[in-house]
Amino acid sequence: MSFLTIQGLSKQFANDYVVDDVNFDVQQGEFIALLGPSGCGKSTTLKMIAGLETPTKGQIFLNSKEITHFSPGKRQLSMVFQSYALFPHLTVRENILFGLKARSVATAEQRKRLSHAVDLVGLGDQLTKKPSQLSGGQCQRVALARAIVSQAPLCLMDEPLSNLDAKLRNEMRTEIRALQKQLGLTVLYVTHDQVEAMSMADRILLLNAGRIEQIGTPKALYNEPASQFVANFIGHPP
Ligand code: ADP
Ligand code: MG
Repeated sequence: MSFLTIQGLSKQFANDYVVDDVNFDVQQGEFIALLGPSGCGKSTTLKMIAGLETPTKGQIFLNSKEITHFSPGKRQLSMVFQSYALFPHLTVRENILFGLKARSVATAEQRKRLSHAVDLVGLGDQLTKKPSQLSGGQCQRVALARAIVSQAPLCLMDEPLSNLDAKLRNEMRTEIRALQKQLGLTVLYVTHDQVEAMSMADRILLLNAGRIEQIGTPKALYNEPASQFVANFIGHPP
């Protein structure tokens, strides 16, 4: 079985299936972009994998274990959001270590993981600041550091760069990809930006109205679009 296996995942809100029979596999160490237009069900898919939404149907397996109904804290995954989701009253250091403190990880271990993570994301001199004193890029680095210290093997990211300006977004794409490779992380990365998906992902999973249109490498989607929708969305008419 693959590292992450999604089988028949569906979510119904009112009368509509906003995620409709989604099936895919992710290998360990892969960077997968979950791509599609606004409202196509990307965030809902990610939330079901994170345990923040209950699937109407379907199953989720991580490391050969079914986790469909596990609470979020028991899933061995980390999340990075567009909104950063930092605590405004806590310092950078406290924000990064929040999850480890909650799980009573030993102080020496916390210190070790903190220094490793802040080195990786370049936040060493910001540790005593509050989020309001940081730029958007620095806030996103705090959110990344918080995911890194958790040492969860799977990281879910939902449009993590969409609040940043174009130049910083470009830099952070490269940084995130380098971090992912260095740490051997498996990443599921939600974006509506085809350029971002094409430039970052090992494979792209293109969603349209809750259903998968195509799964494949950026090259395959570009050169062999499975439908007119894929061709239009990727920007390469067949
Ligand atoms: P995306 O992340 O691709 O923009 P979402 O997964 O956020 O899309 O939303 C997919 C669809 O589900 C949208 O039409 C959205 O309005 C709807 N939706 C999302 N969350 C809820 C909810 N809690 N209740 C009702 N409808 C929802
Ligand atoms: Mg979304």
